[in-house]
Amino acid sequence: MMSDLFNNAIKYLDLASEFASIDAEAIEHLKHPVVSIKFSIPVRMDSGELRFFTAYRVRHSTIRGPGKGGIRFHPKVCMDEMSSLAFWMTMKCAVVGIPFGGAKGGVSVNPKELSPMELERLSRGFVKGVADFIGPDLDIPAPDVYTNAMIMGWMMDEYSEIARHRVPAIITGKPIPTGGSLGREDATGRGAYYCINELEKRLNWQPKNIRVAVQGFGNAGQHVAQFLYHAGYKIVAVSDSKGGVYSKDGFDIDSLVYMKNSTRALRAAYCEGSVCEEVASEKITNEELLALEVDLLIPAALENQITKKNVSDIKAPVIVEVANGPISVDADEILKEQNTLIIPDILANAGGVTVSYFEWVQNKAGYYWCEPEIQERLHEIMVREFNAVYKIKENQKIDMRTAAYVHALNRLGEAISAQGTKTYFEMAPSIIK
Ligand code: NAD
Repeated sequence: MMSDLFNNAIKYLDLASEFASIDAEAIEHLKHPVVSIKFSIPVRMDSGELRFFTAYRVRHSTIRGPGKGGIRFHPKVCMDEMSSLAFWMTMKCAVVGIPFGGAKGGVSVNPKELSPMELERLSRGFVKGVADFIGPDLDIPAPDVYTNAMIMGWMMDEYSEIARHRVPAIITGKPIPTGGSLGREDATGRGAYYCINELEKRLNWQPKNIRVAVQGFGNAGQHVAQFLYHAGYKIVAVSDSKGGVYSKDGFDIDSLVYMKNSTRALRAAYCEGSVCEEVASEKITNEELLALEVDLLIPAALENQITKKNVSDIKAPVIVEVANGPISVDADEILKEQNTLIIPDILANAGGVTVSYFEWVQNKAGYYWCEPEIQERLHEIMVREFNAVYKIKENQKIDMRTAAYVHALNRLGEAISAQGTKTYFEMAPSIIK
């Protein structure tokens, strides 16, 4: 039985279905993941001890193409979380119109406690456990929280050893020399930035007057912050799992990124190293960051960061969800009532999977594109789909999240109905006559 996160995630199906052209049976279809597995990964630790880690992979839908979705290494990984993330992948791929379904996997582990060699053994162990379940035309993993290009490279190598031939299209987000795509590293942040760019035109924003807070300073958070900073936005706060920093005049994001990535800790970089002498900043907690009086709030860490408990503290009039599921369903209802404009995850962070799709296409073709070509194609898709969602929102007088679901459901509905639903089969005899 699925628990809260998944059951809450699929509530948007019913909410959006009344505005979409979709058969009720197709909605039911999307409430049930195709297949889910849970398995154990034995890892010989550096100490000689054998430890077992619990791992998961969920394939939510293959109706529009092979399952696609990242692998997360985090202590809180569980089946409920994987199912929700796989569901959001199905919706996201449909929003941007790429021919994939949704999937997600992960290991319940704190990767920060593992040595690099233990991490490699764990990554290879994940592939050994899941090899019969994934495939370049069936289910294609990618990076997610606390996994990266190096880990994707190990996983591709392990799968290729099992298959006895090289299979680069088994996984995306790989290092560029082993079949990765140019432009994948910053694609999620870039896609979110393209959405903010479209918003900027509609809201007549002057970037220099827009104060931004970013929760989560990993791949997605760092890149969106950098794009915004270089476009003149004022990034006044950022945070990571250890806490955050605030500066009313805004940060030099390039040096923050450098410090974070070279010391692995934002707090250490700013408060215990030399940088705090150069840049005036104040320590804040993650809760305080969310409650700041900013013009744009970007949650880019984990799910359920804004819930019924803290939603009344939220002051930002615009939220761009770079993380998956950062706002709970009940908090979303309250934010909707107070007219907070939310660019939902299934649109805002779709740049990552879009360039993953480009990587897969390049691997299959064995022909690699240049970076400007990738960025141009990403820009075309993000702008086109952002505007399509915005048009649905305006025409049907609904919020952006519901509009994004409607857009996805229209595409999914067509694909499901193409195979026949009850409505079709009831009519079928007269059609044949
Ligand atoms: P990452 O591992 O690179 O970074 C995660 C960041 O979040 C780290 O800075 C970590 O310290 C921080 N963090 C962890 N727990 C936190 C907490 N409780 N409060 C504040 N910060 C916390 O991961 P990522 O790839 O940047 O993913 C971040 C989010 O974006 C996830 O929800 C992920 O599913 C989503 N996302 C990522 C991609 C991608 O291409 N990387 C694509 C789509 C969606």
